[in-house]
Amino acid sequence: MTEREITDIGILLSEPKAIVIVPHKNPDGDAVGSCLGLYIYLCQLGHDAIVIAPNDYPDFLKWLPFEKNVIKYDSQEKIADTYINNAEVIFTLDFNALQRTGDMESVLKASRAVKIMIDHHQQPDGYASFTYSDVRMSSTCEMVFNFIEMLGGSKYLNPEIATCLYTGIMTDTGSFRYPSTSGKTHRIIAELIDKGANNAAIHNAVYDTNSFERLQLLGRALKNLVVLPEYRTAYITLSQEDLNEFQHKKGDTEGFVNYGLSIENIVFAVIFIEQIQEGITKISFRSKGDFSVNEFARTHFEGGGHINAAGGKTDLDLSETLKKFIAILPQYKKALNS
Ligand code: 5GP
Ligand code: MN
Repeated sequence: MTEREITDIGILLSEPKAIVIVPHKNPDGDAVGSCLGLYIYLCQLGHDAIVIAPNDYPDFLKWLPFEKNVIKYDSQEKIADTYINNAEVIFTLDFNALQRTGDMESVLKASRAVKIMIDHHQQPDGYASFTYSDVRMSSTCEMVFNFIEMLGGSKYLNPEIATCLYTGIMTDTGSFRYPSTSGKTHRIIAELIDKGANNAAIHNAVYDTNSFERLQLLGRALKNLVVLPEYRTAYITLSQEDLNEFQHKKGDTEGFVNYGLSIENIVFAVIFIEQIQEGITKISFRSKGDFSVNEFARTHFEGGGHINAAGGKTDLDLSETLKKFIAILPQYKKALNS
């Protein structure tokens, strides 16, 4: 952001405004954490703010401060539309193309509110009046911290904001291990702990609240893991039947894809998850090093994301999706082995 833009946003926010904050569909820890952190900050400034998520998020985020105030568009469309139509400012967080909000896309497009994007994904669209986009950032939560600091709002950082931002940085960096974790990330984390984020309690709430069924589902996923050494690739499949057998709940498969990457010499890991009701197969891609899963997902699977973490989907069933994937791999043999 330029200094000029920060000044303009400061002026915009100097009087109470009707503000809507939106994360991407199927919001993760960074999406929910960044929205709530910003929400608490804006409420303290006296704004009439609300977080509207396209749909629900996993139970392991349902302890975050003020999480109960979040409106879910898919079940509360009418009231959500009213908020959006009346909004003077709309923040879009942790995504950079309006289609990532699913059914909210059209009402957001139609809104004449000042739109402010805060995001760290590759290749942002140009829909926002103010675009704070930086692909080097570990997380949108880190950017919200910077955003509050740039606006001179550090004195408003309280234990609730600190908790929300800590959570999103933690989940998006794989607990501070991915290359996007910088010295600055750690300095921000230190500051958030000083402001009242209880790090041990947050790790426990997110990672140590598994259900028995989820661990059984993980067992099935690991059993289904296939390694293709010639492509340094590992992939997992989960059919709708697998999900049903273990009473799958939203968020249960979060993180499974990473197990493929933990195998020695593997640089590309994928998980295919069949979703019969939605008529799609959802895919998550992860990589190590220079192999861009953002490009891979964009080119072949209607998706995108970051260089080392991206998502996508097909309208095909699981076996057809897998066939398509296997057919594509040979053209990447060199890239995967370089
Ligand atoms: P995940 O695999 O955990 O769902 O997502 C990995 C990363 O890719 C996240 O940063 C997520 O926001 C992004 N992502 C996931 N699915 C999609 C998609 O369908 N399109 C785009 N553009 N990004 C996605
Ligand atoms: Mn993120």
